[in-house]
Amino acid sequence: MWNFSRHGAYTVKSGYYQIMNNIMNHTQAHQKDGNWAKLWHISTPPKIRSFLWRAARDYLPCRIKLQSRNIQVPSQCVTCESGLENNWHIFIDCPYAKECWKVAKFEELVSQCAREEDSFPKWLFKSLNKCPTTGQPNFSAVLWSLWRYRNEKLWNGVSRPPHITVSLGFDMVLRWNQAQRKSIQGQNSISRRNENVRWTKPPEPSMKCNVDTALFKEQRAVGFGTVVRDSMGNFMVSKTCVTCGLFDVKEAEALALLDAFKWTSSLELQDVIFETDSETVVKTIRSKNVDYTEFGSIIFGCGVQSNSRSSPFFQNPTC
Ligand SMILES: [Zn+2]
Repeated sequence: MWNFSRHGAYTVKSGYYQIMNNIMNHTQAHQKDGNWAKLWHISTPPKIRSFLWRAARDYLPCRIKLQSRNIQVPSQCVTCESGLENNWHIFIDCPYAKECWKVAKFEELVSQCAREEDSFPKWLFKSLNKCPTTGQPNFSAVLWSLWRYRNEKLWNGVSRPPHITVSLGFDMVLRWNQAQRKSIQGQNSISRRNENVRWTKPPEPSMKCNVDTALFKEQRAVGFGTVVRDSMGNFMVSKTCVTCGLFDVKEAEALALLDAFKWTSSLELQDVIFETDSETVVKTIRSKNVDYTEFGSIIFGCGVQSNSRSSPFFQNPTC
């Protein structure tokens, strides 16, 4: 007796639906509270945004974290050589971190949020929330710079005063913003010259996720390329991967889209507009017809995934 269909009989559709349900429940179980949209929209280099995400998800390999995975390391903070090295210590309690926050003029914000919150992710989101938009890039840069200094001290024995650590972070944000402005000016002049450029910016505050594929028939493999940009057209995050299997073009395009759904969901990205250049995929997802082929199963997965997102829709840049 198969419990996941109305008549108790196994069907490809009900089987696939059950698998997708498990994937979605698994993904949702790992989602954490917090303003992830704000985090991904901070105007900093992508590597700082990725770092913030890893920190908020408790993925940074600090010593207490490593010990919890049975890896034999000392427990003392690398930077001050005292205190238990967890996120809270590295970024809030460590005397070196306190000096950095003081130099960066975020001392009051940091200590106020630390009094109000009892976990590092909550502290991080509250701090970002209370920080004015213009200050968020530098606030994020200090966090990133503290982590970088910790790693440089651990692996290369580097030692430097707090004001240098702060200015290295600030300088990185400054140079990135200058480069972004030049890049946007360059893009605008290219767009005016070349009317064939079809990519359009998503409306504020959405992001746009473009997916593309490459088939390697001899190697029996397919490559996915996925890139997310914000409403200013700035690069945010990207992913490439290759998976084995013999697929035709439309199956590969549908798989790439399904992979993009799951990946952006795991990054807690919200308000994402997905864009594929496969008209067949777009039309099939929008169609109400049931397709029992392998392609139909992938499309069914795309439909299930899109229903779990806040405002997904599809655009076809070649239409
Ligand atoms: Zn310390």
